[in-house]
Amino acid sequence: MASLENIGACLFKTSMIMSTENIRIAIQKSGRLSEDSLKLFKECGIKFEAQGSKLRSVSSNFPIEFLFLRDDDIPGYVEDGVADLGVIGLNVLMEQKRKVDIVKELGFSKCRLSLAIPRNEVYTDLSYFNGKSIATSYPNLTDAFLKANGVKAETHEISGSVEIAPSIGLAEGICDIVSTGGTLLSNGLKEVAEVFQSQAVLISNKHLNKTKKELLDKIIFRIDAVQKGQNAKYVVLNAKEENIAEIIALLPGMRSPSVVPLAEKGWFSLHSVISENDFWEIIESLRSAGAEGILVLPIEKMIL
Ligand code: ATP
Ligand code: ZN
Repeated sequence: MASLENIGACLFKTSMIMSTENIRIAIQKSGRLSEDSLKLFKECGIKFEAQGSKLRSVSSNFPIEFLFLRDDDIPGYVEDGVADLGVIGLNVLMEQKRKVDIVKELGFSKCRLSLAIPRNEVYTDLSYFNGKSIATSYPNLTDAFLKANGVKAETHEISGSVEIAPSIGLAEGICDIVSTGGTLLSNGLKEVAEVFQSQAVLISNKHLNKTKKELLDKIIFRIDAVQKGQNAKYVVLNAKEENIAEIIALLPGMRSPSVVPLAEKGWFSLHSVISENDFWEIIESLRSAGAEGILVLPIEKMIL
């Protein structure tokens, strides 16, 4: 007969099992998204192995399992629920038109999808492309852009090495991913119009259960802390007592600066957190207000 104690033990075990349900995240196995994706989750304090030919890795300190996949497969797996979350370039996601939620912009793998033509061609405006053929791995994004701009061109989908298409007579122009423009230049092409701006995004399946939603919230909380830390700097400076008030007034967004006395009488050290952009804007004013020995230190994480 089941005693209350046994039932209690069973319930306890069940809740242990439920609370250890892993959330699954798909990240690119190797490519331009991989390194920063791994770095992000490590900075979030999530420990896992990602070496060699491993296709899966379970974290040792967070209920999360990583799947390492080709980037093109990630949106489909997240839509189908094979993975709960994924890190993917917005360009690939929008091209595939998958039904997933975009949870967060991650700020890395920034690039743009652009139209390019042979360098010696004369370009005036988008009407240049009327009646022309364009090679691309992004036919949906390219067609949508051309349509929105009233251009009637023919897109040819090719899966790789798009930049050589004009030189081998496959197409008159291309629409491809550009970051510095170096690849275009070395293939005798010039960028003439930007079609789409991309960066890595965190995506989620639309039907996460309660446990997974809670895990996602925890992950978002950690990513926010990492991202805020990246923009903020810890500033330490020294100043004479009579200058402290003026310096505090110059520092934007400071709620309660620490003012610590130095060994030398009448001198204080002022500690504050400010955004890097703000700092460069006010540095000269700080110095003329009497700030000395200014140190600017990186912040690893910031929780407000
Ligand atoms: P896979 O083998 O996984 O299919 P891939 O060759 O299709 O990889 P990558 O070249 O690794 O893809 O690019 C992945 C994503 O990184 C792109 O979809 C884009 O979002 C972004 N990206 C591409 N080129 C650059 C670049 N030059 N700089 C920054 N980000 C880029
Ligand atoms: Zn790919």
